[in-house]
Amino acid sequence: MIKLSGITPSGHVQLGNHLGALRRWAAEGGPDDLYFVSDLHAMTTTHNPAKLRSLAMEQLAVLVATGIEPERTFVQSDLARDLGALTWILECTCAYGEAARMIQFKEKSKGQAGVRLSLLTYPVLMAADILLQGADQVPVGEDQRQHVELARALAKRFNGTYGEVFTMPEAVLPPAGARVKDLAEPTRKMSKSTRDSAGVVFVLDEPDLIRRKFRRAVTDGGSTPAYEPETRPGIANLLDILSACTGDEPAALAGRYPSYGALKDATADAVIEELRPVRERTRALLDDVTELERIRKAGADRAAERGAHRLSSALRLFGAG
Ligand code: ATP
Ligand code: MG
Repeated sequence: MIKLSGITPSGHVQLGNHLGALRRWAAEGGPDDLYFVSDLHAMTTTHNPAKLRSLAMEQLAVLVATGIEPERTFVQSDLARDLGALTWILECTCAYGEAARMIQFKEKSKGQAGVRLSLLTYPVLMAADILLQGADQVPVGEDQRQHVELARALAKRFNGTYGEVFTMPEAVLPPAGARVKDLAEPTRKMSKSTRDSAGVVFVLDEPDLIRRKFRRAVTDGGSTPAYEPETRPGIANLLDILSACTGDEPAALAGRYPSYGALKDATADAVIEELRPVRERTRALLDDVTELERIRKAGADRAAERGAHRLSSALRLFGAG
């Protein structure tokens, strides 16, 4: 059973990615599960090539530093040639209308000038990611479910028309976990691509900076902590974060702190300790470029090997070569 999950290097890895995804991937992933840095997906909108290259390397280091076995990681662009070939076959299996009705495309392209064609075809690349690796399950939120359904439809169509090559993937809901909100705007989710990073805690932030960000966290006019997500989203977010770090219930935690200030400092301290090992191991890996490149190359080789027979069968059955 292979589960496949990716993280896009659209920015530096943030606390929400750690608490909601990476930490769990490291703890719960099965022996065949795969975790990849989806850097090709970050090219569908305006991007800076040098920045993207360094973010991809950094994210690979963070995945490994979090405790995901290097054997289960890879960087998507290392398979660019294979994925490019498979994407082409799948684009030829996909109707224009199927791609055009993707909700994410409609949302992301709305009102934008110079929309890249790849923004339209990116779900087909995602199908190639999934089908090349032979993934059985793809844990995704609601927003990505439609893309996995497309991958499924394309696999079924290809298998039925040209020959059995692809494993039928299935979208699965990831276990419900902490939904970390932006500290400066606690009704919005924390995201690595948010332009103003004042309310975003990055996994590689130094302790002092983390403390400052928590001290400046937007709260309400109250003074004694209570867990009321609807009416006091800022305080609820701090309690959710503290809860994710300590394992205690947010409502129970609220009673332990006499003031908002005390809660902010306690949450900052818990986050600093939670992230410390990841930050230190990531820094060590980024300093040891030879080791990181070795990990990357080994991951790429394994991922390419895993998909090679599917790609060559698909090409042959489709009439190439
Ligand atoms: P982007 O701004 O590019 O969408 P992101 O920070 O939302 O970046 P994704 O690459 O979309 O990150 O998601 C990577 C993983 O992190 C997913 O599994 C997603 O559910 C999880 N994740 C992202 N943000 C949060 C958050 N604020 N709280 C909990 N989990 C999160
Ligand atoms: Mg996102």
